[in-house]
Parts: sequence; C-alpha cells; structure tokens
Amino acid sequence: MNSRAHYDRLSRDTLDEALARIPGYAAWRSFDPGPSVPIDQRYAALPILTKQELRDHFPLGFIPPGRDLPAGLNNGEVEYARTSGSTDDEVTLVFHAPWWEASEKAAWQLNDHARQIATGTHREAVLASPRCVGPGYTERPLSMEERTLGRHLYLNQQINPATWTPADIRRMVEELNRYQPVVLEADAAYLAFFTRRVAELGFAVHQPQLVFLTYSFPSRVYRHQIRRVFTAPMVSSYGSTETGHVFMECEAGRLHQNTAHCRVDFQPWLPRYGGPTRGRMLVTVFHNPWFAVLRFDTGDVATLDTRGPCPCGRTEGLTLASIDGRTQDVTYSSDGRAITVEDLDVALAGIRTLTGWQLDLPEPMFLRLHILTERDAAEPTRKAAHEILEWIYGAEMRIEVAAVPSLQPERSGKFRFARTAFPVDHARLWNTPP
Ligand SMILES: [Zn+2]
Repeated sequence: MNSRAHYDRLSRDTLDEALARIPGYAAWRSFDPGPSVPIDQRYAALPILTKQELRDHFPLGFIPPGRDLPAGLNNGEVEYARTSGSTDDEVTLVFHAPWWEASEKAAWQLNDHARQIATGTHREAVLASPRCVGPGYTERPLSMEERTLGRHLYLNQQINPATWTPADIRRMVEELNRYQPVVLEADAAYLAFFTRRVAELGFAVHQPQLVFLTYSFPSRVYRHQIRRVFTAPMVSSYGSTETGHVFMECEAGRLHQNTAHCRVDFQPWLPRYGGPTRGRMLVTVFHNPWFAVLRFDTGDVATLDTRGPCPCGRTEGLTLASIDGRTQDVTYSSDGRAITVEDLDVALAGIRTLTGWQLDLPEPMFLRLHILTERDAAEPTRKAAHEILEWIYGAEMRIEVAAVPSLQPERSGKFRFARTAFPVDHARLWNTPP
C-alpha cells in the first residue's frame, strides 16, 4: 500500500471508530456524509473539537468503551495530565506515556540529526518551566537526583528565568557538565536567558549534539542568543499534550507533518488576513488507545510552505514554512490586517540589541511593547522598536515601548508574545462574513 493510501486508511479507521464507539463524538454522526464520500470531505463536514468540549465531556467522553479508567490510573497505565496553556485554556487529559513516546520516536524520523542520535535511550536535559515538565514546581529546591526521571534531567526550578541567580546558572551549568546530555530540549525563552547569562559569567558548558526547541514559539531573537553558546543543530518541534508530536523541523528548516502519528486538516484563513497559505490546524490522533482526539484546534497559526518540494526529499503530509504563534496572540493593524507573532518577530529580530519582547494591548488602538535589551542599549533599541511597530500597525495607533528587566510569564511559566486585554473575535480570520 502506498503511503497516501495508508494515511487515508488510518484517517478512515480512526474516524469510523470514534463515530461508532466514542461517546464524545456521538453527536458528530449526523454531520458525517458517510463511507461513499472521499475521506477528506468526510472530515471537512465534521465539527471542531475545542478545549471547551474536552472539559465538558472529560474524561469518559473520549475513552473507548471497555477501557477501565480507575484500573488504568491505579496500575499506572495512564495518568491525568494538565496542559500548560494560560489559565483560561487549561485542560485535563488522560495521558498514556507509551503513546506519547511513540509519537516522539516517529517525529525523530523527520530530521536526519535526530534520527541519527535519538535512540530512545539517549540522555536528555530539559530546560523549561517546572510547571510544564518534570517533577513539577516545589518551593523546596530538589536535588539533581530528584530531578532525574528516567533518561531526562530537568534543570530548572524557577517559574521565570529572570529570577535565576548566578548560583542557579552555575548549578545548571555544572549539572549539564556532569550529565553530558546528547540532546538539550528547551523552551527558547528559558534557553536564551540561560545562554546570555552563561556568556556573561564566562562559564564553559557541555555541548549537546542537538538542541530541540519546543513548548513555545521559538523567537528568532532567542535563537540568536542560543546560537552564541550552543553550536549543535537547533531543531524546532511542534506538538501538545492533547495531540503528541505533530510537526518536526527537518535539516532543511521546513516543518514536516508526523503522518505516522496524526492527521492534520489545514483550515485556511480568509485571503484578506493571509489565506490561503496561512491558517489554523485541526489535528486527529491515529493511535491513542486511551483518549480519542479528532479535529482538535491546536490554537496555533501555521503557514504552508509553497516553495515546492523540500530539499530533504520528504513528501508526506503537510509541509509548513512556519508556525506563527498562538491564534489568541494575533493582533490587528489600524486598517484591519492580521499581525501574527511570526510577523512581529520577523520585523523585531532585525534589531540586534533586542533580547526579548512582549506586546500588550490594554485597550483598542493602544500598544505597549516591553523589551529586553543588551546592556547599555535600551534607548536605541526602544526607538528602533517603536519605529517598527508604527510601520506595522499604522501611525494612528498609540504606541509605547519600555525596556524592562523581565517579561511576564503566564501561571504555567510560559511567555506569551502578545496579550490583548479586551475581547476579540479571532474567528473572523477563517469564518466567511454573513
Ligand atoms: Zn524537509
């Protein structure tokens, strides 16, 4: 069977099984045009799974009949996992670790560096919010042993990297040098801050063979700083607790869909906002024996790659040029254009003294940009950023730019790039106006 036929078969089997047996999808049956219609059309006719529905029907709505949840929780086959979004979109899921690991292994095949060194038994150090991974956040400092789970060492214990002391940096450097990880996996916001401090303090740090950026949008501003300390290939991977590993950046820098693990339906935005190449992603997971996820809106923006076949030779599934940040972080210019986190990052990353940024919209037509800068470069950086925002959003906007010592993390410890304080209906991006 060729790969497209195999993908269609997985799509069909997953859909038929969910509609027939999973309680949370019973109400979707009436939307299904049935088996005589091509599979892509059947998917397109269905509703979309949102975090709200995951909450409303949790947990039994998504568990195949016959699975005994209390027994699974009791014997450790599954656990409850809370996703690490911002407070209002947190969701609890039934998490089956072997499923997650299988999706990760499949994703490694999509990058030659990862395929060669990621054996599944390799040592990996992780630098991210302790509320997103590892043994969790505690007031009491945990020992290196307490933060080593299986083949993973979780380095960080603070919610905001700006609170790291020189002693924290020294401890993490020493642990990296002792543990000698093959892979360093990180939230780019945390790793950029870490590498800047490592360079300032003049520490020599172990060089891993691969740096994986995941957990949040890997800003160019952050990647510049990481590159000054770590020389290994830097690879971006994209997924979530709900979906597993969905896309992986190949050695040519494009993002390939993990077709062995999931189906992705791309829903383009309207042309006036950047469609049809820009849009949102609806993910259907193929092989999760415990938790059925169909057409889940990941809440992120993607841009399809339109440059023709990828030089790496991979042709299966969707190829993306970029993942462009959270949909809820989309903002609008004074003439109504949609501005993604990616758009802002492309423009702001041209300022080489900028080391971090976060945009707030306290009220309509008012932008307040907070920036981190290189030492003694606050004023020229501030001016340059102000000009860029004016150029992007239009001169009618009120714009303030302030250099600050720290950006503001969410409760999860992740950093959002753009935060709008008033209600905005982002569905305008893809919904045809009535
Ligand atoms: Zn490629």
